Amino acid sequence: MNTVMKTIIEPFRIKSVEPITMTTRAEREAKLKNAHYNLFGLASADVLIDLLTDSGTGAMSSEQWAAIMRGDESYAGSPSFNRFEAAVKNLMPFKHVIPTHQGRAAEAILFKIIGGEGKNIPSNTHFDTTRGNIEATGALAFDLNIDEGRNSQSLHPFKGNMDLQKLESFLIEHGKSVPCVMLTITNNAGGGQPVSLENIRAVAKIAKAHKRPFIIDGCRFAENAWFIKQREPGQKDRSIIDIVRDCFADADGMTMSAKKDAFANIGGWLALNDDELAENARVLLIQTEGFVTYGGLAGRDLDAIAQGLSEIIDEDYLRYRIGTNQYISDRLDAMGVPVVKPAGGHAVFIDAKAWLPHIEPLQYPAQALANRLYEIGGIRGVEIGSLMFGRQPDGTEKPAAMELVRLAIPRRTYTQSHADYLLEAFELLMGEKDSLRGLRVIKEPRLMRHFTCQLQPL
Ligand SMILES: *Cc1c(COP(=O)(O)O)cnc(C)c1O
Repeated sequence: MNTVMKTIIEPFRIKSVEPITMTTRAEREAKLKNAHYNLFGLASADVLIDLLTDSGTGAMSSEQWAAIMRGDESYAGSPSFNRFEAAVKNLMPFKHVIPTHQGRAAEAILFKIIGGEGKNIPSNTHFDTTRGNIEATGALAFDLNIDEGRNSQSLHPFKGNMDLQKLESFLIEHGKSVPCVMLTITNNAGGGQPVSLENIRAVAKIAKAHKRPFIIDGCRFAENAWFIKQREPGQKDRSIIDIVRDCFADADGMTMSAKKDAFANIGGWLALNDDELAENARVLLIQTEGFVTYGGLAGRDLDAIAQGLSEIIDEDYLRYRIGTNQYISDRLDAMGVPVVKPAGGHAVFIDAKAWLPHIEPLQYPAQALANRLYEIGGIRGVEIGSLMFGRQPDGTEKPAAMELVRLAIPRRTYTQSHADYLLEAFELLMGEKDSLRGLRVIKEPRLMRHFTCQLQPL
């Protein structure tokens, strides 16, 4: 008989540990007050479970640490580069692979070449740094995600999909001013929602028909492939590596942050098929990042990425990763906590506007919620709402479209009992939520205030 066990277990055992400092609620209340009620102001040592981001916060494997020792730090022609390049090409068969120190450096190089005044660049949803790098060149960034992607309760299996009709009209309207079509998999800014293989192929076909290069922002390519395997008709018996290869087969290039689905703490790359574009990119690389065989990285980082890429496509890992996210989301839902559905790949999002209707958007309900979660359990999430997006360039304030708390799950870092601890904290929060008060900003910088502003409870 074939027994299928239901308990999610980590598909690894622990060889090296990093102690967490336990604190009391009273201690955390004092620390948060000292940090002026801004979670970015806390020392990480004062956080028990840090769900601020999944970027570069994952745990490396014993094989990755071994690879670190194999790293060759020669300035030019390092074998570490050869291993890195081979590992990328094994999954994404692009002609040119250019290492960078992070994803945003790959974006900066690409858009310095193809962006500029008068250019228009569509995507399902551009990530903040992508948008920033496009706009910095004077070009404009457009989000053409399907409507279901903006509805937090829609159960569409691929909420990250591009709206194909909008893309077609966009290309007809903007013609030659579109230097490329982009697609972010999974759609990070849209809640880590996946894009189907069918949609990826359709976007590639439309871009090709209009003779525009098709570039994938592939930061979470493995999580996206897992969703394709689970949810897309005809894909369930295929291997993750075959699905990944299909995702990139019709693209002309990609940008990547190795801090996501490469299990590394730093790194990224720009990959391209076009020789001339790649040559221009390498000139900029040497100018801003480093020589072509290391980008902004050490040889050891390239080896850690190469090894990480062979581990990220492991199905047992992906089942556990997506399973834990789903588990947290389902339990919160059952408890009556409004979560964005269905669960995305790398984070759980709580809808604070729906849960705390007694707090006005401009009194930052999601910040109030994130702060209380820290006081109760030492758990650090992040507000994605009016504190992050509400301040207008003229200094006035406008409520954001949504008031969310994001709990981003670092890769292979926390265990299932950490997940249960998180759920227990929410049970306590359930009893306290009606007494939560909003906050006001008492000091803020002109731009990106959420990182450094000071707050006071009302
Ligand atoms: C993180 C991320 C980036 C930027 O990568 P960095 O390594 O943080 O510079 C770009 N796009 C997406 C979708 C991301 O998640």
